[in-house]
Amino acid sequence: YLGRHGAEVRTGTAVERVTPRPDGGYEIATDREERRHDTVVLALDASGLRSLVARSERLGDGPWRERIGRLRTAPPFLVSRLWLDRPVAPDRPGFLGTSGFGTLDNISVLERWEDEAARWAARTGGSVVELHAYAVRPGAARDVEEELLVDQLHRVYPETRAASVVDARHVWHDDCPLFPVGGFTDRPTVRTPDPGLVVAGDLVRTDLPVALMERAATTGFLAADALLERWGVRGRTLWTVPDRGRATVLRTLAGWAGR
Ligand SMILES: Cc1cc2nc3c(=O)[nH]c(=O)nc-3n(C[C@H](O)[C@H](O)[C@H](O)COP(=O)(O)OP(=O)(O)OC[C@H]3O[C@@H](n4cnc5c(N)ncnc54)[C@H](O)[C@@H]3O)c2cc1C
Repeated sequence: YLGRHGAEVRTGTAVERVTPRPDGGYEIATDREERRHDTVVLALDASGLRSLVARSERLGDGPWRERIGRLRTAPPFLVSRLWLDRPVAPDRPGFLGTSGFGTLDNISVLERWEDEAARWAARTGGSVVELHAYAVRPGAARDVEEELLVDQLHRVYPETRAASVVDARHVWHDDCPLFPVGGFTDRPTVRTPDPGLVVAGDLVRTDLPVALMERAATTGFLAADALLERWGVRGRTLWTVPDRGRATVLRTLAGWAGR
């Protein structure tokens, strides 16, 4: 779709620096070249955004740069995918959120909803199971945490105790934004002090009731709309659930009750 509109997508090309030009527009520097662009959408993870802004000394104003500098990354997360030699019980759901099982946050049975896993399970009679732990203690021994996660699977789905693990992939990353209690107002917004520069992504503050991928996509639309305004082009209408009660009387009563 983007290609049909003349866009060039360059995955794997890191942006080194963004510099506002005196005549308007921005110079975008990568490890290979510098190019001028009219506008910029920064849609990076927290540490990527923080380090790019730190390297781009003339971007934004002081308070905005300080706000970006305060962004933090959540503790590391672990995703373990296991190929088992026998199926989980037939009534296990495709996705189960868990609580009270150590670091385990959810279990997915991939053959319930993913084609490749479904083909593998049908061919071998096994199961493909994925375990997520969203916040592991920084510095914890990785091999120990990987084993503990599988132990928790055995507790939640006891039939997996008898299964052999045919193959396992454990993926560790730490690029989720951290949202400290009370930190909402300090998050960056889509608009910045510079009208040609906007920010999008899950870390961006919006008053719409969205989070995670939905917030990344929603703020992406908002960022595009903010830029299109400059050329007098109408953007896209965003639909959302109501962000306040519909009946004035009930809203007023709820307001009193909440005091
Ligand atoms: C295990 C796991 C499961 C999840 N499950 C769900 C789910 O079921 N539903 C859901 O809605 N969300 C889910 N999420 C959350 C979801 O993945 C994120 O909310 C979403 O990816 C955020 O998108 P983003 O564009 O803000 O950031 P990212 O996806 O982090 O993208 C930022 C990109 O910027 C790039 N970048 C950084 N610096 C530079 C640079 N200098 N130059 C160029 N590029 C750069 C990074 O490489 C990265 O690709 C899950 C997350 C995890 C970790």
